[in-house]
Amino acid sequence: MKIPLIDLKAGYLSLKDEIDTSVTSVLSSGNYILGPNVQALEKEIAQYCGTKFAVSVANGTDALVLCLDAYGIGPGDEVITSPYSFFATAEAISRVGAIPIFVDIDEASYNIDYKKIESNITKRTKAIIPVHLFGQPAPMDNIMELANRYNLIVIEDACQAIGASYRGRKTGALGHAACFSFFPTKNLGGYGDGGMITTNNEELAGRIRMLRAHGSSKKYYNSEIGYNSRLDEIQAAILRVKLKHLDSFNEARRTKAERYKNLLQGLGFKFPEADSEAVHVYHLYILGHPKRAEIIKGLESRQIGCGIYYPVPLHQQEAYKQLYSDISLPFVEAASKETFAIPLFPEMSDEQQTFVATELRKIIEETQRTSL
Ligand SMILES: *Cc1c(COP(=O)(O)O)cnc(C)c1O
Repeated sequence: MKIPLIDLKAGYLSLKDEIDTSVTSVLSSGNYILGPNVQALEKEIAQYCGTKFAVSVANGTDALVLCLDAYGIGPGDEVITSPYSFFATAEAISRVGAIPIFVDIDEASYNIDYKKIESNITKRTKAIIPVHLFGQPAPMDNIMELANRYNLIVIEDACQAIGASYRGRKTGALGHAACFSFFPTKNLGGYGDGGMITTNNEELAGRIRMLRAHGSSKKYYNSEIGYNSRLDEIQAAILRVKLKHLDSFNEARRTKAERYKNLLQGLGFKFPEADSEAVHVYHLYILGHPKRAEIIKGLESRQIGCGIYYPVPLHQQEAYKQLYSDISLPFVEAASKETFAIPLFPEMSDEQQTFVATELRKIIEETQRTSL
């Protein structure tokens, strides 16, 4: 049995009729960029997250860049974030000319350790970007309390956590603004690129709307230097169909995560630890094990999908390592050496999942035999 890490095609086939109908209607509408589906999706996402506004852009990275830019964050400013994320989180900070300040992670949740944030705040600190990594919300109450005390902006990187919640409130509504990605592999994924910013701040939403369209509120009248970062109608129509199913897909992910934990007991794995205050949406199912290299070899030889998220902490990436050569962040450095993702997607069958667990058990037993 060959099992992919994520089966995007199975996701499409499960909603094929609805999606085909919506795409066909866009194609025959003659309206392809920032049209009625985009407007409707923005309303629906704002309502889903519980914010007043949602503004779509071309991708999740742009969501972060435009949001930082709209807040006026730039050269000379510092932005505190997690070193355990996709590169885009830090890249967006650098792209607007600000400096990422990396704060180590909490060993159990893999999210930023809020207890280590305060000692990194300086006169130049303007914002914090917590990342809800792998689908689990960061400890937002603690982060917001700090931010309010120091007058800092909090932008959630919620790209991996749409539908997750923290103390009864959805991601997207936990900070001053939040950024989402609709990259195909995300929990709410299109069939191309897409992104969204949610906020209750009307002025911010208006600025992002202007920036995404070349710094223009009125066509061909440009009041500042902006971007070309728009969502197209086909993606919006697809996302509107998928949004209706998002909660049940996330529920399926949680059920499967629970099941993995039962199936894989006693093999020395570090399991994802779900914060009791949060509802996790398991964008990825992450295990930790000191013998990662052997396990991955075993999975690959059995054609079971796996991946390393992320092999290099952000402060050690080629693009950054000169700037951060003097810092060490032991918890993220350890996590990046031991963690790996195994197959998890809403359409995964129990049979497929049992197969993955059984093969993992065999692989662990093999590595134990060879190390005797
Ligand atoms: C996917 C992702 C992004 C970037 O989103 P794109 O749509 O690929 O630009 C940013 N941050 C995190 C944590 C992500 O997972």
